[in-house]
Amino acid sequence: MSAVPIRLAERAPSAPRTAPADMPTSGPLVDRYGRVHRDLRVSLTDRCSLRCTYCMPEQGNEWLARQSILTLDEIERVARIAASRGISTFRLTGGEPLLRRDIVAVTERLGRLETPDGPVTIAMTTNGIGLDRVLPALIEAGLGRLNISIDTIRRERFHDLTRRDRLDDVFAGIRAAAASPLRPLKLNAVAMRGVNDDELVDLVQFAIDNDAQMRFIEQMPLDAGHTWDRSQMVTRDEILEKLSARWSLEPIQGRGGAPAETWRLDGTDRTVGVIASVTAPFCGACDRLRLTADGQLRNCLFSNREFDLVPLLRGSGSDDEIEQLLRGCIWKKLPGHAINDPGFLQPDRGMNAIGG
Ligand code: SAM
Ligand code: SF4
Repeated sequence: MSAVPIRLAERAPSAPRTAPADMPTSGPLVDRYGRVHRDLRVSLTDRCSLRCTYCMPEQGNEWLARQSILTLDEIERVARIAASRGISTFRLTGGEPLLRRDIVAVTERLGRLETPDGPVTIAMTTNGIGLDRVLPALIEAGLGRLNISIDTIRRERFHDLTRRDRLDDVFAGIRAAAASPLRPLKLNAVAMRGVNDDELVDLVQFAIDNDAQMRFIEQMPLDAGHTWDRSQMVTRDEILEKLSARWSLEPIQGRGGAPAETWRLDGTDRTVGVIASVTAPFCGACDRLRLTADGQLRNCLFSNREFDLVPLLRGSGSDDEIEQLLRGCIWKKLPGHAINDPGFLQPDRGMNAIGG
């Protein structure tokens, strides 16, 4: 396996020399469609303890070179500037964020940041492996929200899907999270035809047993192998149909900018969520921005353009130049992703390298 920097067809050269005339250069981070950005997804590494088929190839991964991975100080600097302009949630992701040795320090340093309106929230999306050991320290450091991914609770299936025999480690992580004060606790599963679509009810029950909310994600064209096939995708409507056979589902209104639609189960306070990125995109309310582990800003999961912070961070870039690059990236955000257009081009990077 080689470690080479990923090259994209189009990378913006550091800060734009002149900002577009209509782009605000102060105030909240807003795009040209009026979407104010409040959420920065920070990918801490492209490496992972699993090899989920829909995310990474089993072999032949071109890992980011270690020296290209942003340091804690570099991440904190970008996050501080973003927080000062209203980014109030930082979601730590990857790859697998728990593989980062300084994960507690990252949580602690970002958790200290303030927006003009108050403290930030630190959230994490993890596969849960190793979480049982580190969770108390993460909570102590300021972790506020947790999503754990689990696509199946069946051992052989887990092995086939992730190419690793680590289900017990994931269970241990979920048990630790369930025993912790972090709520709401969310479990994520990508729904896949012929893989786990006969298990959706069991997964919801598993989440209920762990005092968590199950959320199903429609599979997106972000696998490194570019094998995504729309006809194989399990849609939001199919997911709801399967769950309706077991529970009565009552929609919960007031989703705001959240990607998941949620439903109450049998009139109880138990809920389930569906993230229908493909069949019911929520781009109109998107307030998210992404920072890859190697210092590239992205305004959308599906964007084919990245904005390179590295020359500013590792050269003599000022905080103002970094802010203007954040603004320029957000300003260029399109009104929606184009997954449903015939000419859609999948991003070069897989989900593990973009940051989910
Ligand atoms: N390793 C961590 C994990 O699995 O939770 C964090 C990174 S992972 C890329 C973040 C989320 O993206 C996971 O919930 C994963 O299931 C989801 N994901 C990855 N590839 C996907 C795809 N092609 N379509 C939909 N969701 C995907
Ligand atoms: Fe790793 Fe998460 Fe991708 Fe699975 S989805 S391979 S756990 S980064």
